[in-house]
Amino acid sequence: MERKYEHIFFDLDRTLWHFDENSRKVLSDIYDEFDLNENIEVTSDFISTYEIINEELWTLYRNGKIAKEQLRSERFHQTLLKFNCNNELLADKIGDYYVNHSPLQTILLPFAVDVLEHLNGKYQMHIITNGFEEIQLIKLNNSKIAHYFNQVIFSEKVGVKKPHPLIFKQAIKGAGATFKNSLMIGDDYYADICGAQRVKMDSIYFNFYKEEHNYKIDREINCLSELFEIL
Ligand SMILES: [Mg+2]
Repeated sequence: MERKYEHIFFDLDRTLWHFDENSRKVLSDIYDEFDLNENIEVTSDFISTYEIINEELWTLYRNGKIAKEQLRSERFHQTLLKFNCNNELLADKIGDYYVNHSPLQTILLPFAVDVLEHLNGKYQMHIITNGFEEIQLIKLNNSKIAHYFNQVIFSEKVGVKKPHPLIFKQAIKGAGATFKNSLMIGDDYYADICGAQRVKMDSIYFNFYKEEHNYKIDREINCLSELFEIL
């Protein structure tokens, strides 16, 4: 392919940093750490129940029905209730443990490092993330990929989240790039892809779980290794 791009902007969570697997790792540690085997027979039951409840509570949170602080422990309280364990204090402790330990995890999406290594030097690479600065920096440093990126743009600092055009404009400006010579890669259709489309920046939709959709997209990949061919 003709070298059109000079700058590549990556999303972090679920694009490079394997949010779902890292979460499962922490949940599995929680199962051991808090002796949950007394109530729950197998770790995978704990994890799958948590994931369903967490999803439901996130929907409530997004719709402004519950506060973030409430979400933290409530998702564990409700998970424990499913196994006949009514213990709010334990749920609080687990909620704190989860939030503190999650960013320390280091599982990346398959081929993340190989791809970054392949692109390194050929392109300038950057991150645009809606996550909190403190947390995202821990993830980047602990998983040893921070050095690949020229700049990390945090929605927190810009004051708006993806897909707001302002965060893309600031990112482009900060990188000394143009929308034309830049490419956005991310897993979130709304935040990453629509955001890029609004500022007329090319994008690649990373659909790791091969979910069916009828989104209007430029290009889709299901594995980061496909980038070896494209870039
Ligand atoms: Mg993401």
